[in-house]
Amino acid sequence: MDKPVELTGLSQPELVTFVETLGEPAYRGRQLFAALQHRRLRSFDEITDLPKELRIRLSEIARASTLKVESQYTSSDGTRRYLMKTHDGLPVETVFIPEERRDTICFSSQSGCPLQCTFCLTAQLGLLRSLTAGEIVEQIMIALNDAYGIGVKPPKGTNLVAMGAGEPLLNLDSLLKALRVMADPQGLHIVPNRVTVSTAGVVPRILDLANTSDRPHLAISLAAPTDELRDVLMPINKRWPLEDLLGACKAFEKTLKPGERLTFEYVMLDGVNDSDEQARQLANLLNRHGIRSKVNLIPHNPADPLPYQPSSPDRVERFKNILESKGVHTYVRRPRGRDIFAACGQLAARQGTLNNLTELTSIGANN
Ligand code: SF4
Repeated sequence: MDKPVELTGLSQPELVTFVETLGEPAYRGRQLFAALQHRRLRSFDEITDLPKELRIRLSEIARASTLKVESQYTSSDGTRRYLMKTHDGLPVETVFIPEERRDTICFSSQSGCPLQCTFCLTAQLGLLRSLTAGEIVEQIMIALNDAYGIGVKPPKGTNLVAMGAGEPLLNLDSLLKALRVMADPQGLHIVPNRVTVSTAGVVPRILDLANTSDRPHLAISLAAPTDELRDVLMPINKRWPLEDLLGACKAFEKTLKPGERLTFEYVMLDGVNDSDEQARQLANLLNRHGIRSKVNLIPHNPADPLPYQPSSPDRVERFKNILESKGVHTYVRRPRGRDIFAACGQLAARQGTLNNLTELTSIGANN
């Protein structure tokens, strides 16, 4: 039997073509798209405005959803982490972060990750596989349905960040496909301008993204101001060292819109990359390339067995002041969901939590 078609990864025109191949009129495709993407229904049984025979036919050859939520955790700060499984049993993690102005959903682009950043727990899983466009879209649907109710419009709008498990630029085709599907005004209607993709520095794909029309924003995880240290913290640096990476960033800069900045993420590791001298090296590196950018300082999220501790708040503040004194726009990111292993670098399909935890029951496949 052919593999079932994952309908959540299809755009509206593709769904129309799909139903037409079944001998159905085009409007059935539009109906199906609205049911899946706008009403966020997750099984054919729920799409009662389609004739029963069509629903039976669809369930034989296609899937309305593929991810199953195995467990979910809610942090004392309101952050929610979902641990899901793909149809072939692989872990996928998604984090919903409520914020005053606009909620953020941090999604995964791969199950596990092939890169070996030494400060990241996900690295320890290795790459299990890249996710399909449908699996990327479904993560957003599941988080929104859980946070607001099935099909309810998010009251404040939604930002997306591809900062969960995986290196998004190693799954660029599926990622861009998912973003196109989600941008449809008759579906989720989350436009690329609301999406930030974070990369460890896959230089050729940064250049590809620069040439993509209607692209998302880009963030680069830097973690070190010198090749010597970055080779250790982010081994991808041996393949594409800092000069190559910043050269690609410079090319990307040409595509920035007015007011848009490239983001550099800098995880702060106590005694490893947080000295005054390293702050000056970082400022000099960025200033030498003159890229319109900002730096986000992210205190490390400790997790056994990672060998690092977060820099102290005083150290982070001093590092920030040095960068700013050299004209670098710098922000400090507040860690969210640390107690439930939902924070940056902590996603490793853990079933547990630290403390302050409310564990909810499994919400099943159809939420
Ligand atoms: S930090 Fe990102 S790219 Fe690096 S190992 Fe973790 S998930 Fe992969």
